[in-house]
Amino acid sequence: MFFKIRDLELKPNRFEVAFAPGEVDLLDPELQQAGPLTAEGVAEFLDSVSEIHVRGEFRVRVNAPCDRCLEPAGEEIRQKFDLYYRPMEELEGGVEVGLKAADADVGFYEGDGISLIDILREQILLALPAQRVCRKDCRGLCPICGLSLNEQQCSCVAPAVESRWEALKSFKPGLKAGK
Ligand SMILES: [Zn+2]
Ligand SMILES: [Zn+2]
Repeated sequence: MFFKIRDLELKPNRFEVAFAPGEVDLLDPELQQAGPLTAEGVAEFLDSVSEIHVRGEFRVRVNAPCDRCLEPAGEEIRQKFDLYYRPMEELEGGVEVGLKAADADVGFYEGDGISLIDILREQILLALPAQRVCRKDCRGLCPICGLSLNEQQCSCVAPAVESRWEALKSFKPGLKAGK
């Protein structure tokens, strides 16, 4: 769905759409649109400032590998949005606009409008948590043998930890080294 300014000038566009799983490319091979992406809302054109205003709500399930154990982890995202898009030419030409661009809710459109998928993709990527884990207490993989510690406890001993322990044991307070 593409919001054309010429159409929006005539009347706001009320939308209610569903994109099939996998239809939205999330620009990262690790991220997958695992469920339908549904969105509804309204797009309108604010003539006086040449801004496109899009607001609504979307819902989607995104799959990504767990940061700790690499097993698939799902993230259900349901979010409202309320966004303003200004013409790109203003960004290129204006100093005053530069300040506005710092505002997270203001974006830019190029040419004769903006695509809903582009808007939603950006919102999904922003909504994903920085750390993605399959469950809060995921124990991750053993750094030595690679075994998933959620399933089994291995017998590896991390060398870094051990040598620090050895150093502590041989440390005798009050004695000078070598005597
Ligand atoms: Zn995990
Ligand atoms: Zn191990």
